[in-house]
Amino acid sequence: MQSLEFKSPGSIQEACRLLDATGSRPIAGGTDVIPQMRDGRFQAGTLVDISRIPDLSYVKQINGEIAIGSTTTHTMIVDSPLIQARARFLAEVSGIVGGVQTQNRGTLGGNIANASPAGDTLPVLLALDATLDLVSQSGERSLALADFLRGPGRTAILSGEIIRQVRFAPLAQGAQSLFLRLGNRKGMLISVVSVALVLELDAAGRVRDCRIALGAVAPTPIRCREAEAILLGRPVDAGLIENAAAAAEAASRPIDDVRASAAYRRHIVRVLVRRGLKQLAGLGEATS
Ligand SMILES: Cc1cc2nc3c(=O)[nH]c(=O)nc-3n(C[C@H](O)[C@H](O)[C@H](O)COP(=O)(O)OP(=O)(O)OC[C@H]3O[C@@H](n4cnc5c(N)ncnc54)[C@H](O)[C@@H]3O)c2cc1C
Repeated sequence: MQSLEFKSPGSIQEACRLLDATGSRPIAGGTDVIPQMRDGRFQAGTLVDISRIPDLSYVKQINGEIAIGSTTTHTMIVDSPLIQARARFLAEVSGIVGGVQTQNRGTLGGNIANASPAGDTLPVLLALDATLDLVSQSGERSLALADFLRGPGRTAILSGEIIRQVRFAPLAQGAQSLFLRLGNRKGMLISVVSVALVLELDAAGRVRDCRIALGAVAPTPIRCREAEAILLGRPVDAGLIENAAAAAEAASRPIDDVRASAAYRRHIVRVLVRRGLKQLAGLGEATS
C-alpha cells in the first residue's frame, strides 16, 4: 500500500513550498478528495491541508469588488450579508451544495478546482464574470474563471499552484439573480441541469443587464451569450424570453449518461431558463 503524508501548513507561503514537491496536492474540506481517493480517482503522495490557513477564509469588499478566500466554506457564503445583498444567487447555491455537513466542510475553492461540469457554484461564478487569483512559489497570477475551466476535472492550474481567492464585481442594486437546478436526489444530488440567471430592468422595463449560464450540459459550465443578446436593450415579455430560452437550449451540448439523456437535458435547459427569466421579470412563473 502506498504511504500518504498529511501536512498542515500555517501560511500560504508554507503551503506553496510544500506543494512545490512532486506528488503533493492540496486538500481543503476533503468532500471531493476523500471519496475520489476511495475510488482511486485522486492520487497524492502528500496531502497539503490548506483549510487551516487563516488568511484564505473570508468574504470582503476590496477595491469595489467582492473577494472570497478559497477555503471559505459554503456555510460562510450562505451567512454572508454582503453575498446576500450583492450576489444573492451565490448564497442560494451555496445553501444547496449537498447537506449541512457538506456545506460546513466544503469550500468554494474546492468546488472550482474540482471542475466538475455539474459543480453548482460554477455557473453562478461564470454569470458573475469571476476572476481567480492563483498563487505559487513563483508568484501570483490572475485568470478569468472561463479560461480556468478546461474540461471535466481539467483546469489551467499549474503544479504547485493554489487558488487564493475568487473576486467579481457586485451586481447592481436593481439586479435580480436566481439559481435553478434539476437533479435526482436531494442531499446527494448531482445536477442534471443547472441554470444561473441575472436580470436587471431599467425604469421603462428594458433589459439593462442579462446573464445566463448553464451547468451540466457541456464539458464545462457555459455562458449563453447569444441568448443574453436577444434580451439586452429590449422590453422584456414572454415572447422574448421564449426566444432566449430557445437560444440557451441551442447553446447546450449535453451528453447521454446514467442520470439523463442529452435530449431531456436540452429540454430542461429551455424549461428552466424560461421559468427563471419569467420569475425575475415578474411575469409570473413560480419556481419550486
Ligand atoms: C455528500 C456530498 C454531496 C455533495 N453535493 C454537492 C452539490 O450539491 N453540488 C456540488 O457542486 N458539489 C457537491 N459535492 C461536492 C463537494 O462537496 C464540493 O465540490 C465542495 O465544494 C468541494 O470543496 P472541498 O473543500 O471539500 O474540496 P476538496 O475535496 O478538499 O478538494 C477538491 C479538489 O480541489 C483541489 N483544491 C481544493 N482547494 C483548492 C485550492 N484552494 N486551490 C487549488 N486546488 C484546490 C483539491 O486538490 C481537489 O482536487 C458534494 C459532495 C458530497 C460528499
